[in-house]
Amino acid sequence: MSDPRESSSGESGPGESGRGESGRGESGRGMSGVQEPDKVVILDRDGTIVIDRGYLDDPRGLEFGPQAAEGLHWLHSQGYRLVVITNQSGIGRGYFTIERLEAMNARLTAMVEESGARLAGIYYCPHAPEAACDCRKPAQGLLRRAAAELGFDPAAAVVIGDKESDIEFGRRAGATTILIAAEAPPAGSGARADFVAPNLMAAARVAASACARRAGPR
Ligand SMILES: [Mg+2]
Ligand SMILES: [Zn+2]
Repeated sequence: MSDPRESSSGESGPGESGRGESGRGESGRGMSGVQEPDKVVILDRDGTIVIDRGYLDDPRGLEFGPQAAEGLHWLHSQGYRLVVITNQSGIGRGYFTIERLEAMNARLTAMVEESGARLAGIYYCPHAPEAACDCRKPAQGLLRRAAAELGFDPAAAVVIGDKESDIEFGRRAGATTILIAAEAPPAGSGARADFVAPNLMAAARVAASACARRAGPR
């Protein structure tokens, strides 16, 4: 049903989820040294990288959350590939268009590059919850696609998000999960994250130590 060809001009049909987009200015940017295939961090967008403005439809409204630019830069400098996977049901609900989201993706890509990092891809689900698609987090469709296109093992990735659905999304994949939250949620509430961090920089440090522990001594 969905056409796998590149759809950067925004001609995606309504039944189709967003295509991963390699960051602009891909060539010659990398200062990050050798990238190991499984050093991958999957990031939610709203409330994780940028301030959650609720169905944001304007690229100018994108603003890094506390310590987010620093966290992205640091992860990039440590050789992690950064992949955004985001639910954007504002499209399916008719609040804004795919073209609008593509403009926001371009702005986000530029902001991340200004911070000294780079996104390996932005994947989005445009559907309303009622569509029961296979790409709205916590469903695994976008993660499967990212893993296939970028070549990594989802179970070896770290998933960072600010909602229970992000944590459930990561857990289903067998990934390490980090919840961004000002304080730890009460015990026994919903999907349990492996770690809780107050901002993206703190989460980045946690991600790296979790990966190092998983990799073990060489
Ligand atoms: Mg979020
Ligand atoms: Zn979807």
